[in-house]
Amino acid sequence: MSDLNASCLCGCVRLTLPDAFLYMGNCHCSECRKFTGADYSSVGGIEQSKVVILAGESEIRYYPKSDETELAFCSHCGSSLFSHKVKKGLFNIRLGILDTAPRHAPDFHIHIASKAPWHTVNEALKQFEHGPD
Ligand SMILES: [Zn+2]
Ligand SMILES: [Zn+2]
Repeated sequence: MSDLNASCLCGCVRLTLPDAFLYMGNCHCSECRKFTGADYSSVGGIEQSKVVILAGESEIRYYPKSDETELAFCSHCGSSLFSHKVKKGLFNIRLGILDTAPRHAPDFHIHIASKAPWHTVNEALKQFEHGPD
């Protein structure tokens, strides 16, 4: 199993992680839409301990969204990098920052109830009105 590389737009933040996502999905919640500036955010969940920050750790800023979640971004270029699930010790890596293709692809949508009204959802994937919990 080869490792995946990831980086921000300006390249100062570089990560590496095993191709071992616990899940991969598309989040349509309004917070992910705002944070990423996209119609939805594709993320892959992985244990925080498996992600190695190779470069640019001091450039990463964390926006405290809630007690559970902080959102990581590059302070130079603004790229959203991952959400950190503080209590679970998980990173939800924004798949858009990957420089290497993972073996799998997102296979579900969450928070369809708050999807962008102009966006047509790919109906081939499972859909959840709200979160997975
Ligand atoms: Zn950057
Ligand atoms: Zn979301």
